[in-house]
Amino acid sequence: MVFKALYLRPPGISTEFSHSKCYLRKTKNCSTEISGQHYISDSVLKQFDGLWVEGFPWNSERTQYRPRVLKAKILCTRHNNALSPLDSCACLAFQAFREATAYAALKSLRRSTKYFLIDGYGLELWAMKTLHGLVNAKILRDNSGPVFDAYAMELSAALEAFSTGRVTEPLGMHIAPDIGGSVENSLGFAPLLHQGRQQLHGLALCVHGLRINFLFDASGLPIGTLSSNALYRPSVIDVSGKHRTSRVIVVWDMLTTQLRRIEAKLGR
Ligand SMILES: [Zn+2]
Repeated sequence: MVFKALYLRPPGISTEFSHSKCYLRKTKNCSTEISGQHYISDSVLKQFDGLWVEGFPWNSERTQYRPRVLKAKILCTRHNNALSPLDSCACLAFQAFREATAYAALKSLRRSTKYFLIDGYGLELWAMKTLHGLVNAKILRDNSGPVFDAYAMELSAALEAFSTGRVTEPLGMHIAPDIGGSVENSLGFAPLLHQGRQQLHGLALCVHGLRINFLFDASGLPIGTLSSNALYRPSVIDVSGKHRTSRVIVVWDMLTTQLRRIEAKLGR
């Protein structure tokens, strides 16, 4: 099964207008109205009991957020509408992770494996949109202040990805090796930063005991080893509980000779 590639460009001919508050204004395809909607959609937020954001480095202090804080005027209505299909992708992916974790943790003796499907590219693009939201709304910080003020963020990867519906290799999803562990029903974010170069590389997402790094700027990193890494764009994430496993199949359309499988062991 292959999910349909997402078409995220605003419809019709270009407006040739750039709204000064829209972070996609470089495309000169804005509307005159600015959107004040949540940049992490209600449908995603409703699935979680809490939401937190960490500074850098990982494991520094967490800041809890209430959903209503996550509104900012950072996209015009035309671009906001164009990117809205990403929210349902993320919703379905998080639902799959939640059900997979719950099934693997069930207190019963059932042994059969249950299967779930998620759209890998859709989740990557949602993470990209979310990263731009969190940066432009000045929510992501390092130890001294908002990432927005001090770090360079490459916009060209986002412009290309939103227009083609694909994040290109070696960018995208890299599952961190320290997976599993405690599972809480909250959504957590942290910036992937290089403090020496003042560079923002991407976004770390913590969800249902998984930590997923989304890399969106690989400059200065060992590119050759990134995409060959076993943790890059895994096609199978097995969530293993005491008695059974949930198999989350992450759908990509690339031809790969190697099946990348990782295992997330639930805390036992
Ligand atoms: Zn715009």
